[in-house]
Amino acid sequence: MITLKSPAEIECMRKSGAILRDCLLFLEERVKPGVSTKRLDEFAHDYIIRHDCKPSFLGYGGFPGTICASVDDVVVHGFPSDKRLQEGQILSIDCGLIYKGWQADAARTVLVGEVSEEKKLLVETTRESFFKGVEQFKVGNRLGDISHAVQEHCEARGYGIVRSMVGHGIGREMHEDPPVPNYGKAGHGVKLEVGLVLAIEPMVNLGTWQTVEQGWSCKTKDGKPSAHYENTVALTEHGAEILTL
Ligand code: MG
Ligand code: MG
Repeated sequence: MITLKSPAEIECMRKSGAILRDCLLFLEERVKPGVSTKRLDEFAHDYIIRHDCKPSFLGYGGFPGTICASVDDVVVHGFPSDKRLQEGQILSIDCGLIYKGWQADAARTVLVGEVSEEKKLLVETTRESFFKGVEQFKVGNRLGDISHAVQEHCEARGYGIVRSMVGHGIGREMHEDPPVPNYGKAGHGVKLEVGLVLAIEPMVNLGTWQTVEQGWSCKTKDGKPSAHYENTVALTEHGAEILTL
């Protein structure tokens, strides 16, 4: 069941979104070779608590962290660990929080020191594909228009679009209807209406789209790197508004 949000509810989500945006900026500045993802997780936890929010990932289905920290071939859901980041890696930080009952969810892939051109391009294309999707998030379109735009942008450049994980509606719950795949047919799916709030989140692989999952772990099948870029986006009377940017 899709829950449309009123302008007053979107105003609340604007606040939670802004806190998450700033939290991610705070974390991005702290990504360096030698830092452990557990340390970044502590920074995130402190930041969220200090801003009168609750971390939404911590304990969700038993998840042990405030952030998902996914390095290189880990697509999503990586556990924060004591392992130190190394020059040349890419780190996807996914984070969620709740402010006064309203959820925000966003992710960035960050370069650790000097990174290969190939990885840089993957990260940049993943980010671009999100904006291609957002361009389609408008009244009169259907959900498949968003999915198709993301898929086309990435596949035209030879990348693999992850199928096993998708975006989602968001509001009082982190995961609401509808699911938002990063692949699909233009002109298909639910109609996009004012009040719809979505977490649009391309997960893009350098090689094959196929992934291997075991428990929480989700990795690329061929061991090549993967990037993730996500924002919480509301459709208002004035068009799509990115709440976490
Ligand atoms: Mg997320
Ligand atoms: Mg999400």
